Amino acid sequence: MSSCDQCGKSILFGGQRLDQRRYCSAACARIHPLLEMADRVPVDILQRQVSEWRQSACPKCKRRDGAIDVHEHHRVHSLVLMTQWSTRRNVCCRRCGRREQLLSTLYCATLGWWGFPWGLLVTPVQIVRNVAALCRREADRPSAAFEQIVRRQIARHYLDAQATVPASP
Ligand SMILES: [Zn+2]
Ligand SMILES: [Zn+2]
Repeated sequence: MSSCDQCGKSILFGGQRLDQRRYCSAACARIHPLLEMADRVPVDILQRQVSEWRQSACPKCKRRDGAIDVHEHHRVHSLVLMTQWSTRRNVCCRRCGRREQLLSTLYCATLGWWGFPWGLLVTPVQIVRNVAALCRREADRPSAAFEQIVRRQIARHYLDAQATVPASP
């Protein structure tokens, strides 16, 4: 089964195929030119932008003493027969990322269990994912997820610049 290249939703039927990508809806397919452009960002420009961003101030705490990267944290909450879970991504320093992972661990541990059967099944998974992320050593290389975000930013700038160039007579 394939999933949407924009939102990650599973595509059972239909969807749109453009070049090598699949999208679940017309709304998601609107991102296509941006993703194509992001693939073509030259490596040297990407590397320069990635290392510049990694050393900039953290968007959350404004400090400058740690590398910026993507940090995921995982949540689940339940109410009897209803259980919802999600993974969120923050671009921030490791200290802020770990704070969210710790809060999400507590969130899961208090609110996750109270649903049958999914609460009981998903809660330990989400807790383990948070704890694993908390214990992971700080990587000395930027993650692929971070590079992907930087690629999209560069592509967006480029497309915006193209859009504002006046058409020649
Ligand atoms: Zn989608
Ligand atoms: Zn921070």
